[in-house]
Amino acid sequence: MKILVCISNVPDTTSKITFTDNNTAFNSNGIQYIINPYDELALSKAVELADGGKANVTVIHVGDVASEPTIRKALAVGADQAVRIDAPPRDAWFVANQIATYAKTENFDLILTGRESIDYNGAQVQAYIAELLQIPSVSIAKRIEINGNEATIDREIEGGKEVLTVNLPVVIGTAEGVAEVKIPNMRGIMGARSKPLTVLPAVDVPALSTISNYETPTPRGAVTLIDKDNINKLVELLHTEAKVI
Ligand SMILES: Cc1cc2nc3c(=O)[nH]c(=O)nc-3n(C[C@H](O)[C@H](O)[C@H](O)COP(=O)(O)OP(=O)(O)OC[C@H]3O[C@@H](n4cnc5c(N)ncnc54)[C@H](O)[C@@H]3O)c2cc1C
Repeated sequence: MKILVCISNVPDTTSKITFTDNNTAFNSNGIQYIINPYDELALSKAVELADGGKANVTVIHVGDVASEPTIRKALAVGADQAVRIDAPPRDAWFVANQIATYAKTENFDLILTGRESIDYNGAQVQAYIAELLQIPSVSIAKRIEINGNEATIDREIEGGKEVLTVNLPVVIGTAEGVAEVKIPNMRGIMGARSKPLTVLPAVDVPALSTISNYETPTPRGAVTLIDKDNINKLVELLHTEAKVI
């Protein structure tokens, strides 16, 4: 079985997010990047399925050379080889077209993405890839089991779960529970240095959207502590400051 895992390079969740150029560009100064956590789940599931040589795992990333440490980390977790499409990820349509164009050359049985990226949170790339390849797409997968040419998938739905089967090839967006996250060990980290990382040029596809500006949430006001016995003060503040009663 051939598995393709799509990896997005996102700011560490503890990063302080700021913008430059009059709030039109993300300020990447001093930002530490990590594998998108949902993609870590996808990768861990792929490595689990490949255990003992049962599958071959390729990771793909659309981004510039600065993302290579993230790609090497994915190789250290257990992917067999990596592909980097050498272009800034201009929008979800652009990214999906790059991945689909590569996937068409390799006939993957399974394409895994995260349910969404934790930076732009578009949740679009997965469905676009499936549409471009004309294969099924299943989102928010919490369990994946492969039997021959068929995948059985548990999906998260409001208040419960849905179980469905689908023929391979398929694109699946992974969510919490799909796998235990695999942490690279020293052997994996050393081995990752010599695994193949192929850099390919981007295909010429127009981006469909342009971000015009970013806004950060209004900073929260200071907290007012009220003595537990001073109910009158609490009522007064709810009325005059919070204006909720
Ligand atoms: C410098 C810069 C400028 C940008 N400008 C714009 C803009 O003008 N308009 C706009 O819409 N977006 C813009 N983006 C956002 C960027 O295009 C997003 O990375 C892209 O839209 C995918 O993010 P998403 O949230 O839509 O992904 P989602 O659809 O939420 O991601 C789902 C899954 O797709 C896969 N995936 C996502 N991104 C990649 C990737 N790069 N490589 C491989 N797999 C991936 C991962 O498996 C991920 O879990 C910009 C990004 C950068 C870095």
